[in-house]
Amino acid sequence: MATVKDFRNDVRPNWCPGCGDFSVQASIQRALAAMDKQPHEVAVISGIGCSGRISGYINSYGFHGVHGRSLPTAQGVKLANRNLTVLAAGGDGDGFGIGLNHFMHAVRRNMDITYVVMDNQIYGLTKGQHSPTSAHGFKAKTTPAGNIENALVPTQIALAAGITYLAQGFSSDVNQLVRLIQQGIEHKGFSLINVFSPCVTYNKINTYDWYKENVFNLDQVPDYDPTDRAAAMNMVIEKHGLATGLIYRDDTRVAYEDQIPGFKEESIVSQDLGLDPAVFAAALKEYA
Ligand code: SF4
Repeated sequence: MATVKDFRNDVRPNWCPGCGDFSVQASIQRALAAMDKQPHEVAVISGIGCSGRISGYINSYGFHGVHGRSLPTAQGVKLANRNLTVLAAGGDGDGFGIGLNHFMHAVRRNMDITYVVMDNQIYGLTKGQHSPTSAHGFKAKTTPAGNIENALVPTQIALAAGITYLAQGFSSDVNQLVRLIQQGIEHKGFSLINVFSPCVTYNKINTYDWYKENVFNLDQVPDYDPTDRAAAMNMVIEKHGLATGLIYRDDTRVAYEDQIPGFKEESIVSQDLGLDPAVFAAALKEYA
């Protein structure tokens, strides 16, 4: 039986003390252990930002890519080896700013990968600029008089693009977060777990206390039906994107990779592609 320790390595995160990303990392490790995954069965692909460092902090296959491009890489990994559990991870700037186009297409494509976003409503790595999810009126270095743009609401975009598993968590509620991540990995299709993960250094507005006062926990709404897409959209609009818990799931759609003849039976990595070894070695050399 796998344990959390199996997914730890010797690299010490250099996140600020109190950063919400610590809880997200621990939740991913707990979810993987609870599912009895082994490190060699998992790949974590991340983009750029404080949270993007997470791929180096989890004992698994990992790839720390370029800004906003974790999802294309994660989809490529899944296509090459469908037997891997593939997680993509990053922040709100990475995923919903520069990476937004990739996000929407990954959602509609519905490949079986899990995307964990650490949403702190600010750019932390570059020391405190407003991000796509910063609220109207939000004051940051780039918006000293208050943000004049409206915030992008990731859950609305995800529903509009046709997501098949959508959840939102909060770094302070680790038990809920572990459950949501585990469900997302188990779901056969694209899953987003957007996590309110406070930046304690640069965001003095959306603090742990602010989230505690403002999130709306769907776990406490017994008659909420997460299979009703219209109700889910109404919920995220009504609660200004601050609902936590399982927002929506659709288990009827077939994942992208399960529709490709040949590929759905066997991964590319285990197929005999009939390549001349010398030609393959020469091609690899070009990328060395
Ligand atoms: Fe976390 Fe903010 Fe520090 Fe980055 S700057 S590690 S997001 S607390």
